[in-house]
Amino acid sequence: MEKSTVRVLDIPFYNISQAAFIEELLFCADQNQKKFVVTANPEIVMNTKADVHFKQIVTSADYIVPDGVGIVMAAERLGTPLKERVTGFDTLVGILNKAPEKQFRVYFLGATPEVSSKLMEKMKISYPNLMIAGSHHGYFDLEESENITQEIIDTGADFIFVALGSPAQEKWILSHFHRFPKGIFMGVGGCFDVLSGSVKRAPQWMIKWKLEWVYRFITNPSRWRRFFAIPRFMREVKKEVRRKEVGK
Ligand code: UDP
Repeated sequence: MEKSTVRVLDIPFYNISQAAFIEELLFCADQNQKKFVVTANPEIVMNTKADVHFKQIVTSADYIVPDGVGIVMAAERLGTPLKERVTGFDTLVGILNKAPEKQFRVYFLGATPEVSSKLMEKMKISYPNLMIAGSHHGYFDLEESENITQEIIDTGADFIFVALGSPAQEKWILSHFHRFPKGIFMGVGGCFDVLSGSVKRAPQWMIKWKLEWVYRFITNPSRWRRFFAIPRFMREVKKEVRRKEVGK
């Protein structure tokens, strides 16, 4: 069956609810399938506009999901609404919660060596029944990358979460994807920092009011560069809305 997608600035987003997406990935893992998931926010969309090669990587994914309220709002403005946002963080947590039932093996690649080992400690406490296939920090060179790939293959991991930041994580996934016989691969950015307790997630009320980005900005001002992508993204969406109106 064709997937229902909604185009935002030429990126086809999968139109599915968060809960249904988690179920779909669990189903794919159960069938020993191989899938590449990109959770795209406005910054990633803008990067695809600036870099043709990166756009090819993103659009080669099996699933592109709207990670952030910006994408959902843009789809609404374009007259083709998406069901809701489907975030990397919620997808990751959803899989961690459900993986033990089916005894899926989960591999965690990325973050600093400290965060990576803290994460493993935290996983054992928070998800005692989770089958951890393994983990490796995200500061390695090209040569080590080949060994890490083989190590992950040998673990028989069903889910491989890659936290190298974007675009490095999407590039890593695509360039090694062909070597894996199976696995659900998803780039998860800074999620390991949050899950390990190294970086706090925004308070619930801010998440509820969709102000998580404000919190991340205040607590980590070095991220300011990426916030410039948001007004640029909005301007592009506005142009696209106008083009659509003229074309009617
Ligand atoms: N990271 C990594 N290797 C690198 C560069 C970054 O493992 O060479 C990790 C970094 O430690 C952090 C994550 O990648 O855990 C990037 O987080 P960030 O918040 O920048 O990503 P975003 O959520 O914005 O994509």
